[in-house]
Amino acid sequence: MKKIGFIGLGNMGAPMAANLAKAGYEVTGFDLNPVEVEGVARAASAAEAARDKDAVITMLPNGEILKSVYAQIVPAARPGAVLIDCSTVDVDSARAAHQMAQEAGLLSVDAPVSGGVGGAAAGTLTFMAGGSEQAFAAARPLFDVMGAKAVHCGPAGAGQAAKICNNMILGISMLAVCEAFALADKLGLDRQKMFDVVSTSSGSCWSINTYCPAPGVGPKSPADNDYKPGFAAELMLKDLKLSQQAAEAADAATPMGRRATELYEQFVAEGGAGKDFSAVLLKLAQSGRDG
Ligand code: NAD
Repeated sequence: MKKIGFIGLGNMGAPMAANLAKAGYEVTGFDLNPVEVEGVARAASAAEAARDKDAVITMLPNGEILKSVYAQIVPAARPGAVLIDCSTVDVDSARAAHQMAQEAGLLSVDAPVSGGVGGAAAGTLTFMAGGSEQAFAAARPLFDVMGAKAVHCGPAGAGQAAKICNNMILGISMLAVCEAFALADKLGLDRQKMFDVVSTSSGSCWSINTYCPAPGVGPKSPADNDYKPGFAAELMLKDLKLSQQAAEAADAATPMGRRATELYEQFVAEGGAGKDFSAVLLKLAQSGRDG
């Protein structure tokens, strides 16, 4: 596999495409914005980027855009090519994209990522993939360049399902940690002491141990950089909404996921947009019992 088309050269896509080019692949990119990415040739359209490639990667904002881009690239791709969608989208759109690819004789994988912009630049992303064994095997060498780990989660849509479940846990656990810091403040407990205890006790989790929302406490995190993302609150809200859409469709009970979605909706509407998702601590620390 040598030739790759890459569509969606945003915050995540650009460094991922650059890493593939650095590893010796011939990468042709397309984005609606005129972006330059080192080592990546530019195509005039998504179809042109996909034409005659061994693999076509997409890294796009949402499921509607994904489906519209697949409508352009599926007819252009050569039979046997593998389509790898790394965007975070709803499970139904992911499955619809698989279906379009399959009907045209193409291999396809949904392969959303964890690890953020830093992981994309460093080539240390985790890929969670859905699709056939054959498609996963075809995509694997590219996952190895762009990431540190790739898990084949199951059939079409399973990668998105894993991503949505993981990020629902993350949203809920960040709110739990922020609530605990806000309560600790009101109880007169020093934040550093709270970290020292919880990070090695049964309340420990990634949200406090690795990504502590309290500035000056724990390892360096967006809280120490004025809550610059990181992982923006509106992206967390997007993923929480996807979890609720999936829960609704599957009739799954997610009461904490639902409440977390409401709280992030409120936070984003009240000035949280553009801030890291851990900045919800600022809001909770300023609030009283009834808001
Ligand atoms: P981004 O907005 O920076 O990039 C998306 C790019 O897609 C933009 O450059 C946009 O111009 C382009 N685009 C939109 N419509 C297009 C079209 N029709 N044809 C071609 N290009 C088009 O977003 P991002 O941060 O790079 O995120 C991309 C995806 O990865 C999202 O689904 C996001 O949820 C997911 N994700 C992001 C992060 C993160 O930390 N940023 C982490 C994990 C997953």
